[in-house]
Amino acid sequence: VNATKDEEASAKKAAATANAGAPTIFDKIIAKEIPSIIVYEDERVLAFRDINPQAPVHVLVIPKFRDGLTELGKAEARQRDILGELLYAAKIVAEKEGILDGFRVVINSGATACQSVYHLHLHVLGGRQMKWPPG
Ligand code: 5GP
Repeated sequence: VNATKDEEASAKKAAATANAGAPTIFDKIIAKEIPSIIVYEDERVLAFRDINPQAPVHVLVIPKFRDGLTELGKAEARQRDILGELLYAAKIVAEKEGILDGFRVVINSGATACQSVYHLHLHVLGGRQMKWPPG
């Protein structure tokens, strides 16, 4: 099995179903219709543990109101405030998780970057030595 090809195909499929801004699994997480482990929450931002962690700490930070923000590559100037709030929330998460000495924030934007959920999200990763470059 060619894992890279599989990854590419599933990323393209996810992107194709996202074009109309269809609801994603994250809407259900926000509505608490499906459970998640919440790390931080305020009026506009929710942070919860990734179901498939890639590091000892792997938290997703999302806007509660997607407002067309399916991917960073589609962000508009009017969304600058929420983008800033998400980044600051990532710092709060890192602080709460005790990884302020070193952590990584990742945004996959679009199929080529292997984005799989089309509700903009930041990955906050830490708790181990990171490597560079990423895959
Ligand atoms: P992306 O690949 O779009 O950048 O990241 C999507 C992330 O969402 C993945 O890391 C995946 O593990 C995570 N994810 C997908 N479905 C769920 C879910 O139902 N619950 C949680 N907590 N994370 C999820």
